[in-house]
Amino acid sequence: RLTLFMLALLPVMMILAVFFGNFIRKFSKQVQDKIAESNTIVDETFQAINNVKSFVNELFEMKRYKNKTDEVVKIAVKGGKYRAAFASFIILCIFGAIVAVIWRGVIMVNNGDILIGSLFSFVLYSVYIGASIGGIADIYAQIQKSIGATERLLDILEEKPEVENISDKKISVDGNVKFDNVSFSYPNRKEIPVLKNINFEIKKGEKVAIVGPSGSGKTTLIALLFRYYDVQEGEITIDNKKIKKYDVHSLRRELGLVPQEVMLFGGSINENIKYGNINSTKEEIIAASKKANSHDFIMNFTDKYKTVVGERGVQLSGGQRQRVAIARTILKNPNILILDEATSSLDSESEREVQKGLNELVKNKTAIIIAHRMSTIQNVDKIIVLDKGSIVEIGNHQELIANKGLYSHLYKMQFEV
Ligand code: ADP
Ligand code: MG
Repeated sequence: RLTLFMLALLPVMMILAVFFGNFIRKFSKQVQDKIAESNTIVDETFQAINNVKSFVNELFEMKRYKNKTDEVVKIAVKGGKYRAAFASFIILCIFGAIVAVIWRGVIMVNNGDILIGSLFSFVLYSVYIGASIGGIADIYAQIQKSIGATERLLDILEEKPEVENISDKKISVDGNVKFDNVSFSYPNRKEIPVLKNINFEIKKGEKVAIVGPSGSGKTTLIALLFRYYDVQEGEITIDNKKIKKYDVHSLRRELGLVPQEVMLFGGSINENIKYGNINSTKEEIIAASKKANSHDFIMNFTDKYKTVVGERGVQLSGGQRQRVAIARTILKNPNILILDEATSSLDSESEREVQKGLNELVKNKTAIIIAHRMSTIQNVDKIIVLDKGSIVEIGNHQELIANKGLYSHLYKMQFEV
């Protein structure tokens, strides 16, 4: 009877523990989020240290970090207080239960139902059990705290991988690219159409330029080709096969991109070129580097190919970084090449050097050249003019100049300047 009496008190405690557990979980999740935010501040500040210094905003950044960490402390302390209250509450409950059991037991002893000695042993056992249950409550709170802290991680683990299993892993494509009535808007801004009814075709080996004002959707076209996003309407095909039907990895292996801002990794030049094909030999690396017009400047460094480029390649000039990136892409040897304003941030001297490498890179390949300077694209097979997400003109240089449309306008503007 005494055991039943004691057990009757348990459910109340358990309900309270569950309620409290959820409450604590919320706090530790908040703490974790705030810590992540404060880390972002440190990360960004160090990455853009040149900007911070040139704007003399060191104090501002320090304050920003301090405010964030203060928030972390505030929430953590608050959560700690609730946990302490919970622990005290549990202890109170346990002793309350023991007192209740003793009270009940004394009544039973008075009635002659049990001996005083049995009551004493029962209370002793109850204390053991109570202490254990108290321990469980604390562990439960700890578990809830950990779950709160790892909830974001679990979200990431549950994220659907982009790579579907497509058994057909075609090794090589010829390089016929076709956009068939493609329309697209970014998932985070669905209401703004970025590309509207895009139609064009690039035959194997052709060089095609895409020009248009900034923000007209040129880079977005490339992102779609790489399948960073899927199109909402229309189809993109390579060699007459929808790119959705390709294995994502195989598809990307056939595409080579030289962007405007090249990202190098913080190792040596050798490692950075090798990134294009991690199985390449030393001879292949040097051959690629020669084609990319980077061999000479690399040999001028005292450490030659072992020269360390610094974080993100900061110890190389823009033109040098670009040529290392070209060598890397030559090693990758894809059949379709995309140059996204590859020389736009360079002065004309280094542009000429980089252009030599680029010419070597696109030889015998399908190439899509997004260009800012019109002078670099006059000899391509076809120029596609993009404006506000739509194609407004297609043709070669002479035709487009004669057309007196957007292209001829952009062209004139550049040469008037
Ligand atoms: P371009 O390369 O021609 O300068 P982009 O393709 O980069 O132009 O951008 C086209 C439009 O898409 C712009 O209006 C830009 O604001 C928008 N945009 C680009 N990237 C994103 C993104 N990740 N999310 C939402 N909108 C984007
Ligand atoms: Mg762009």
